[in-house]
Amino acid sequence: MTSLRAGAATDTGQVRANNQDAILVAEPVFAVADGMGGHAAGEIASQVAVESLQADDVSSVEALVQAVRAANRAVWTRADGEPELRGMGTTMCVVALVGGPADGDGQREASAGDDEERIVVANVGDSRVYQFHDGDIIQITDDHSLVEDLVREGRLSPEEARTHPQRNILTRVLGNEPDVEVDTWEIIPQRGDRYLLCSDGLFNEVDDDRIASVLRRLASPEDAAHELVALANQHGGRDNVSVVVVDVVQGDDRATTAPAAGATAPPTVASAGPSTANMPAASSPGEAETGAGPASGTGDRAAAPAPTTPALATPSPATGASRPRKLTWRSLLFVCSVLVVLGGAAAAVAWFARSTYHVGVDDEQVVIYRGRPGGLLWFQPTLAERTGLTLAEMPPARRDAVSAGKEEPSLAQARDYVAALEEQAAAERRRTTTTTTSTTTSTTSAPLLGTGRP
Ligand code: CA
Repeated sequence: MTSLRAGAATDTGQVRANNQDAILVAEPVFAVADGMGGHAAGEIASQVAVESLQADDVSSVEALVQAVRAANRAVWTRADGEPELRGMGTTMCVVALVGGPADGDGQREASAGDDEERIVVANVGDSRVYQFHDGDIIQITDDHSLVEDLVREGRLSPEEARTHPQRNILTRVLGNEPDVEVDTWEIIPQRGDRYLLCSDGLFNEVDDDRIASVLRRLASPEDAAHELVALANQHGGRDNVSVVVVDVVQGDDRATTAPAAGATAPPTVASAGPSTANMPAASSPGEAETGAGPASGTGDRAAAPAPTTPALATPSPATGASRPRKLTWRSLLFVCSVLVVLGGAAAAVAWFARSTYHVGVDDEQVVIYRGRPGGLLWFQPTLAERTGLTLAEMPPARRDAVSAGKEEPSLAQARDYVAALEEQAAAERRRTTTTTTSTTTSTTSAPLLGTGRP
């Protein structure tokens, strides 16, 4: 009878301030979740998903699919209920052993008429499951990301995908919609095979050859997991990195130690070196949904594995700058709508700031400005036209008003105001000239008229 043994490690990395990954090590189910969302939302999303999975029945392929969908609903419900968690999501990849006769603890039970054991891989998002078989690794899961879609379509090479600026955009995650499609694969367990579950913090830093080399070299799954995390950190550690290595062993090789709960470093279990194995029978995604999997496990509910105290990753604090986190369509939509609103507000301010004119002074000359006196935010008034009227010519009573800026709703009305000023200035000039002339007349006429006046 088949058993699984696992070693795991998770780390914040060299750059991030917090660890948004979560892992589940609870034989016979193992998972990696990579959360995304602002502030603490990413951490919450991955934790909620992993805790939901941990609490669910995973004793058949169908049950596992339902458990991942339930994890999706758990994240969705949480995000929907708390505005600050809107848009959060998480990836989730799972490896579980299903089927087979009940073991000594009664933890696993075959559905009626089907006692064949299977390794089931389930995936949503871009965390990955690799199978290590005969010294080589094969990627089982398909990433649900924009760049991987482009790679599959032949429009991008895998090398280009690794550094593509939009590699953080995911096309499918848990928590974005009330329901989610889950990819599944079924594989006949082969003694000596290893399964590697990891977040993108590993494979974006460490290439497949190096990963395979570690899995060949280190027989202990825990040593291998820690070595892979260390390698990711040596190569930059620009993201959180989580690794679970699951070895397929025979029942009598099974470790007796149960995983420790709540530890930062997941439990140590006995090692099992990879050995030669036969080719696994991997099935294609969706087979579970098309009915090729074991019979539905409705009767298995009571016999569902009660996970032995699982180890959930505990984020460790660190400081540092970070590169962009992953984005989901939902959060992209949110960001876009915020930008549209901000853009609209800026346009409205610009329109308001420039919708009016005012008569003011530039270099002692009366001019017409477009915009509000003194400007509004970063919108300064611009010179619309000069008038040929100087401040000195202005009626003194109007000088202060014009110096402060006399606002008019349109250019035509500003011109009317200037015209009125010019008329007043002209009237002022006429009055001054008349006064001057009459003064001159009286002073010059005085001698002519003699001294007849008193
Ligand atoms: Ca990540």
